[in-house]
Amino acid sequence: MTREKNKFKNCPECNLPGIIVKKETVISLLSEDAIIRISGDSFALCMNPDCDISYYGLDSNISFKCDEMNVPLWFKRNAHPIYACYCSKVTKDDVINAIRKEGAMTVQDINRITGSMKNSDCSHHNPLGKCCHKMIQDIIDEEKMSSNNCFNLTCPLS
Ligand SMILES: [Zn+2]
Repeated sequence: MTREKNKFKNCPECNLPGIIVKKETVISLLSEDAIIRISGDSFALCMNPDCDISYYGLDSNISFKCDEMNVPLWFKRNAHPIYACYCSKVTKDDVINAIRKEGAMTVQDINRITGSMKNSDCSHHNPLGKCCHKMIQDIIDEEKMSSNNCFNLTCPLS
C-alpha cells in the first residue's frame, strides 16, 4: 500500500486534527446526496465528539456533516445506535449484554455470541476503514474496569 503524501489539515469546523481515511471508505459511507458533492482524493474523519463534521477533504475544501452519512459515528455525541461492529451491525449494547448476561470475556466470545466480525468488510463499513476488533476490545476493557469498581464498592448487584 502506498502512503499518500498530502499535507495534513485539521477539521475546517473545529480545527482539531482528524484521522486519515481512504476514499473508498468515505464513498461507501456517505449518503447518495452527499456523494454527488465529493471532490479531491484524500480525506480525514473529524474525531471531535462535539463537532458536526464527519469527513473533510485534505486536498479539497469539501466537508460533510454527520447526518450526510449512512451510519452514525460511534464517538459523536448523540450517536444512536452506537455500533461496536459496523460490518455485522452489532451495537455496543449487544456487546455489553454478551459480557454481563452471557459471561463473554474475550473478543472471540463476543464474536461467537453476537455474530460480530462475521463477513468482515471493514474498509467499506467501518467509518475509519479499520477492523472493529479494537472497538470490541475497548468495550470489554471498559466493562472489566467498571465491574472492578463495582466489586470494590461492594456493589449491591453482585
Ligand atoms: Zn471537527
